[in-house]
Amino acid sequence: VVQARGLVKRFRGGLLAVDDVSFDVHRGETLGIVGESGSGKSTTARLVLALEKADAGEVRLLGHAWSTASERARRSLRRRVGVVHQDPLSSFDPRWSTERILQDAIGADAGGRSARDRRVRDLLAQVALPESVRTRHPLTLSGGQRQRIAIARALATSPEIIVLDEAVSALDVSVQAQILDLLGDLQREYGLSYLFISHDLGVIHHMSDRVLVMKDGVVVEQGDADRIFLHPAHPYTRELIGSLT
Ligand code: ATP
Ligand code: MG
Repeated sequence: VVQARGLVKRFRGGLLAVDDVSFDVHRGETLGIVGESGSGKSTTARLVLALEKADAGEVRLLGHAWSTASERARRSLRRRVGVVHQDPLSSFDPRWSTERILQDAIGADAGGRSARDRRVRDLLAQVALPESVRTRHPLTLSGGQRQRIAIARALATSPEIIVLDEAVSALDVSVQAQILDLLGDLQREYGLSYLFISHDLGVIHHMSDRVLVMKDGVVVEQGDADRIFLHPAHPYTRELIGSLT
């Protein structure tokens, strides 16, 4: 569902944040991206989402290249990819209730008011939040509940892939486990693909089918998750995994 080829992103000042990065995300699988702070994970995510324009290379999403898609095709592509960030509050309008956030994400083309109300209820059920959350503001909810709303919002357009950038990094370990379980359930139920980004090796191993290891904008190693964690080929990966034990 994602084909990234030779991605390069250079920021002002000459920093090569992403340097010739290529990978695929297949349908129904989780590709994990792991690396230290500043290794280019979020920049890679932004390139996949076309929030950043690549200096070289190309991203194809669901068979369409961002760079050659018409404005209309880009709009429809945007609805087929969801995003969840580390801190959902930073992307929620603080004045909006949960209901308003979800209605906004569902959009106008979802039919009339009652259809949208039904969709909001369905989304809350999908992320196992009680209906009472509907009228609450995310500011008044726990971190785990907020992240569930962020996931519900990402699901609102029934995407085929979700990009999760440090989606559980701000949560404590037990809440992390609940959110990871939820993501696993949703993936099995809807055949979702995930681009799952984290600096946390344990979380990456737990979630990913395949893993991409990044360092200073470069992919040092990629492959099957168990192979990478049990038999890392690259010295940097060995060092990274070794630093855990
Ligand atoms: P973290 O784990 O801290 O989130 P990351 O792997 O997501 O790190 P990126 O955010 O992709 O790393 O950043 C990669 C490099 O690009 C860093 O050196 C960062 O300072 C730089 N960078 C990122 N965004 C910009 C920007 N908008 N302008 C200039 N430099 C940037
Ligand atoms: Mg980041």
